[in-house]
Parts: sequence; C-alpha cells; structure tokens
Amino acid sequence: MAGDGVSTLFIDMDGTLTDLALDRLFFTETLPQCFADLSGASLAEARRHVVAELAAIQGTLAWYSLPRLSSLFGLDLEALTEGLARAIVLQPGAIEFLEQAGEHYRRVLVTNADPVVLAMKLRATGLAAWLDGVICAHHLGAAKEEAIFYERLAALEPDCPLAGLLIDDNLAAVAAARRAGLQAVAIARPDRSRPARDITEGFAVENIAALKDFLPERLTR
Ligand SMILES: [Mg+2]
Repeated sequence: MAGDGVSTLFIDMDGTLTDLALDRLFFTETLPQCFADLSGASLAEARRHVVAELAAIQGTLAWYSLPRLSSLFGLDLEALTEGLARAIVLQPGAIEFLEQAGEHYRRVLVTNADPVVLAMKLRATGLAAWLDGVICAHHLGAAKEEAIFYERLAALEPDCPLAGLLIDDNLAAVAAARRAGLQAVAIARPDRSRPARDITEGFAVENIAALKDFLPERLTR
C-alpha cells in the first residue's frame, strides 16, 4: 500500500505502454487506403469517410471493435491488423516502470483494445509477465470513456474506485475515471513521432517512464 491509499494501478495499453504511432498510422493511412481500393473512392474521399464514420462512434466500444469496424467499412480488419505484430514498439521505460511499480502496487492492464488485438499485442510484447491482471473493456461491455465501465470494473476489482489509479493517454477515459472516484494520471505523449500534448487539467506526465520518479509514495496527487 502506498501513496494516498492507492494499491492498484489500472494501466492502459495503447499509447501508455506501447507507442501509439502504429495505431495512428493504421487508422490514418492503412484503413483509408484499403477503403479507397475497395470502394473506388479517391484517397482524399476515403480519408474523409473514415474520419466521419469514426467520429460518429468515438468514445464507444464500436470504435475499438474489429468486427464492428469490419462491417462498417466492408473490410476484414482482423486480417489487416495481423501483420502489425512485428511493428509494435513499447514506450521507453515501460517495462522498468512495471517492474518497479510491482514492488508497491498491483498492476492491472485495462484496455479498450479489441480482444484479438489485445492478445496479439500481449504475445508480441511479453507484457503479461509484468502484470497482475488484464481486463478487456469488451468483456465488460463498456468503454473506459463510459461511467458504467467503472461500476463493472468495481465488481471485479475491489480497489476500484477508492484505492485505484488509472494511467491512460485517453483524456476522455481519464476524465470518466476521475468522475467515478478513481485517481488518474494522463499520458501527454502517447505517439513518439508527435510532440507532447498540452494537458492543463489534473496530473499529467509525458510518458510512463516519467512516473518512475513518483514511485512509490508520490505517485498520487
Ligand atoms: Mg491508450
């Protein structure tokens, strides 16, 4: 037990433990290109279509669901993502953070990622060796941006909300977690090919490696 009664860290995967550049390229390049090839639309038209369709389901599980996205765009997203495993890159210092955090806290991965993508990324990175639990939002039937997610998480994890801290690059998820009574830290630079975002609300760090300086007793604020 350490820092303000927090005993479990709920840790996001994409953009927090892994570099988000791969996911961004998939949604901004691969998906529009494949949709353009399929539909005969220009790449510019396909990009606009993909952006509009994704915006309409942002913050819901559908945005993260390979079957839902496959039917939305008429493409086999599971096949399209298969080749990505070799390109997955961890955030610098992610394993070291998990290793040190494990001396003081339970470490539970909480992700909106599709179960197929989650399994692929765990296999490719070996992350499970540094985790005490893995919870997939699809199994709870709600995304981390939704209040009900935290009610369902609490049924599985007694440290949610009052002894839990979420570490996440998804600012809507961070806000929802705080509203649900958890503490939360925002990751400002999930995509290493992009500059850090300017986060003005609440506790934020550039990346998970920066959180090592707060272990154990200064992790919460
Ligand atoms: Mg994320």
